[in-house]
Amino acid sequence: MEEISFPSVPNLVNIDNYNSRLNMLIQTRVIYPYDFIGIKKEFKSLYSEAIHSFLYGCPDAALSLAVRCLERGLKEYMSKKGIREISYRDGKNTDKRVKLEYARLFDLINCSENPVKDKEILQYLKSLRNYTHEDTLVEDFHALEAIKHVTDALNQLFQFKNITVTVERCRLCGQKHSITVDAGEYYLGNRIMLKCPNHSLGIGSGVLGEFIVNLN
Ligand SMILES: [Zn+2]
Repeated sequence: MEEISFPSVPNLVNIDNYNSRLNMLIQTRVIYPYDFIGIKKEFKSLYSEAIHSFLYGCPDAALSLAVRCLERGLKEYMSKKGIREISYRDGKNTDKRVKLEYARLFDLINCSENPVKDKEILQYLKSLRNYTHEDTLVEDFHALEAIKHVTDALNQLFQFKNITVTVERCRLCGQKHSITVDAGEYYLGNRIMLKCPNHSLGIGSGVLGEFIVNLN
């Protein structure tokens, strides 16, 4: 009897590459956009998908999703500020006004109401057009760059200075602690050590626990 041969399954997840992309992500220090994600569950899903698309080797999807997060973030911010219309100059150098809900991403970036003022970020966001309107495939490096800049923009719009971690019962002193972690340390993949504030210097490390910043 003839043997049945199954078609080979494409190797969707190459573990080595996953690890190298994870390392790239950690080294890039993408600060978890805590306040943007907290606005609604759809934002959290979109952002999480962008990161996972990057990690699993789908850079084109990652870039598109990052850009979508940026568009949602800009519209959310402006809408909360009571902005209903935006004004921008189109390709023919004509001044235009459009309702916020109908505005396209590049109008949002170019409009005078755009709250992102950091010139470097703005310049980068404008350059995104090159990726989204060409058929050249996006490389990992570009996807990560997009994630980084979009996340920086989101963290400018929805700023958080720090987060507080509550430890109900410290394994070192038995007390309850509220420990502050600065936003700068709260980047994806970072291993954060929590130290007991009652632990006297010089005796052991004082580390009562640790966690890794992830998207869950
Ligand atoms: Zn303690």
